[in-house]
Amino acid sequence: MPRAGILTVVGKPNAGKSTLLNRIIGEKLSIVSPKPQSTRDRIVGIHTTADMQLIVLDTPGLLNPRYELQHVMQATALAALAEADVVLHLADGTEGPPRPLAEVARIKETIRAPVIVAINKIDLISEGQREALREQFPEARFISATTGQGVEELLSHVGTMLPESPFLYPDDEISDQTVRFFVSELIRETALEQLEDEIPYSVACEIEEFRESQLPVYIRAVLHVERDSQKRILIGAGGGRIRGIGRVARQKVEAFVGSPVYLDLWVKVLPNWRRNAHALRRFGYKLREDRPS
Ligand code: GDP
Ligand code: MG
Repeated sequence: MPRAGILTVVGKPNAGKSTLLNRIIGEKLSIVSPKPQSTRDRIVGIHTTADMQLIVLDTPGLLNPRYELQHVMQATALAALAEADVVLHLADGTEGPPRPLAEVARIKETIRAPVIVAINKIDLISEGQREALREQFPEARFISATTGQGVEELLSHVGTMLPESPFLYPDDEISDQTVRFFVSELIRETALEQLEDEIPYSVACEIEEFRESQLPVYIRAVLHVERDSQKRILIGAGGGRIRGIGRVARQKVEAFVGSPVYLDLWVKVLPNWRRNAHALRRFGYKLREDRPS
């Protein structure tokens, strides 16, 4: 009997969760960013081998729920934890010993699933540091999501902990998200990369039109910001910045969809969209009241 189940990855922002997910799935799925809290909702990746199927949930990290958006993100992360067959607590090895999971995830609920601790970024720490961590956490796995070191061994270990079950998805499936979703994430990721820290988390990307019946594929996308000042920053002097974002984003989208793309990119102001339930839904965020409980 094969094994199949859900692996939920938790850890502090920047621990490398999205990088690990991308390595596991082998395609660029989850947004990877040097800025924390940029993963939208949960991303499902599916990893199938001959005898096991792992459904991977990436959590957006847990913030103090100040804005509606943050409530949504926290609810998403908690739901992903409740559904897990195995929880992977990913810690950044360059930050010293990992903190307890309950503290990292700021949860009081006990987690029923078994928890594996993986210490990431071992390519950045010395052999001595690694030994010290190994003494403190003899059960921990040591990996580098970037180089792939230790990841295969980690996955086999996770596999042994999954319940016996037929596969839950066809074996060529890598995600249950739509192409539109990934395209909007690629555009948003590019905007975040090029904005440094000028507009943290205020950018949402909406795909207004996606015409695949013609070449180049026509995609009209809107970057929504919350204020006029942010719109000016995003557009840049003489439109230079938005053109740069469009150019880089188009290359990423072309690589993802596998054909030439005409990317028609706009910037609009939608005041305080992060506090607006209607806008959040429109941009694909799932709100608490939308979830089956
Ligand atoms: P997340 O917030 O936990 O999803 O973290 P990300 O996957 O977005 O990674 C945060 C940063 O750490 C990015 O700049 C990654 O390139 C970097 N990173 C992640 N894993 C590793 C690793 O194993 N080694 C190194 N050197 N950098 C890593
Ligand atoms: Mg992430």
